[in-house]
Amino acid sequence: MKTVVALPGEGIGLEVVDATCELLLAAGLPLKILTPPQGETAVKSHGAPVPDETKQAARAADGVLFGAAGGPATSAVITWLRWEMDAWAGVRPIRFYPGMRSPLADPEGIDYVVLRENSEGLYPGREGELAELARVMPDLSDRTGRTLKEYGEGRFAVKVVTPAGVERIARFACALARKRKAKGRPGKVTCVTKSNVLRGSDGLFQQIAERVVRDAGDLQFEHFYVDDASRRLVRFPKSMDVVLCMNLYGDILSDLGAETAGGLGLAPSGCFGDGWAYFESVHGSAPDIAGKGIANPTATILSSAMMLEHMGLGAEAERLEAAVARVYRDGKTLTADQGGTAKTRDMAQAVLAAYRSA
Ligand code: NAD
Repeated sequence: MKTVVALPGEGIGLEVVDATCELLLAAGLPLKILTPPQGETAVKSHGAPVPDETKQAARAADGVLFGAAGGPATSAVITWLRWEMDAWAGVRPIRFYPGMRSPLADPEGIDYVVLRENSEGLYPGREGELAELARVMPDLSDRTGRTLKEYGEGRFAVKVVTPAGVERIARFACALARKRKAKGRPGKVTCVTKSNVLRGSDGLFQQIAERVVRDAGDLQFEHFYVDDASRRLVRFPKSMDVVLCMNLYGDILSDLGAETAGGLGLAPSGCFGDGWAYFESVHGSAPDIAGKGIANPTATILSSAMMLEHMGLGAEAERLEAAVARVYRDGKTLTADQGGTAKTRDMAQAVLAAYRSA
C-alpha cells in the first residue's frame, strides 16, 4: 500500500483532484489517500496555509498530488511545494491523443516535454524599489549607459542564473531525453533562451546547457531564441523532444504547447527535486468555470499517472494513460472545452470504465 497526499488548492483544483482521487481508489490501486488541511481552510483552522502536520504528511508520502493555486493561501501551498522543497525540475509533457481538440490541422504525433528550470530565473520573486537598488549599485547601467537613477521612480526584479543550477537541469534534460530515446524518440535537447539580448544571464544558461548535452555524447543539441521557439512549437511541434527552458519561458511555452495539443485542461506536470517530487496540472484555478463541475480532469488524471510511475507503479500508470487515450478516441464523454457536454466527474468515470476494461 502506498500513501498519497492530495492537496487540491482551490477553484477547479477541488473538483479535478476530487474526481481523480475517486477514480484512483475505484480503480483498485493500492493507495491510501490523505487530505491534510491546506489553503484557506487551513488558515482558519491552523493559522497557516500549509500547517506543520501537512508538511510532515507530504514529506512522508510516496506521492503528492496538487490541484491548482489561485489566491494567496493556495499560492503559499505552491511556494512550499515548489520553492521551499526545491522542486527544481518542472516536467511538462505535451502530447496529442486522437480526439483532442487541437487548433492545428495535423496534430497527430505531437509528443514532447517542456522541461522548465523551476528554481532560478525571475520566478522566486526578488523584487524591490529601483531607488534601493540604485543606492547599492549606483554604477549599474543598461546597454545604452543609462544608470538606474536616471529611470526615476520604479521597481526591479532580479533574474538569477548559476552554473550549478543550469548544470543540474541540463543533466536532468539529458536523462529525460535518454529515457525517451529508449522508447523511440530522437534523443534531442532543444534549449530555449534569449541569449542574443540577455548575453550574461541567458548566455550563461545556453553555454552550460550546450556543454553538458554535447559532453553527454549520445544526444543531439539545438538552441532557439524564445521568440523563434514559440513559433516553432506551433509550426514544427513534432520536431521537438525535450525542450529545456529557463523558468519564465517554460511557464509560457508549456501553456502554448498545451493549447496546440488540445487545451490547457489536458496538460500534466511533475516537479522534481532531490529526493522530493510532487505532481500537478499545468493549469490554474480557472475562476471563470470554478464551481460548475465542468472542468476537464485530464491534466490532473495524467499528473496522477506521472505520480504513479514515480511511485513505482509504472504498469498502472501506462494503463491509466491508455484509458485517457481511449476516452478521447471514443469521443463520447468529453467536457465542454473538448466540445462535449460531460461533467468533470462523468469524464473521470469514463476513464475509470476504460481502465477497468483494459
Ligand atoms: P487558468 O489556467 O486558471 O485558466 C486559463 C483558461 O483556461 C481559463 O479560461 C480556464 O477556464 C481554462 N482552463 C484551465 N484549466 C481548465 C480545465 N481543467 N478545464 C477546462 N478549462 C480550463 O489561468 P488564469 O485564468 O490565468 O489564472 C487563474 C488563477 O490561477 C490565477 O490566480 C493564477 O495565478 C493561478 N494559476 C495557478 C497555477 C498553478 O496552480 N500551477 C497555474 C496558472 C495560474
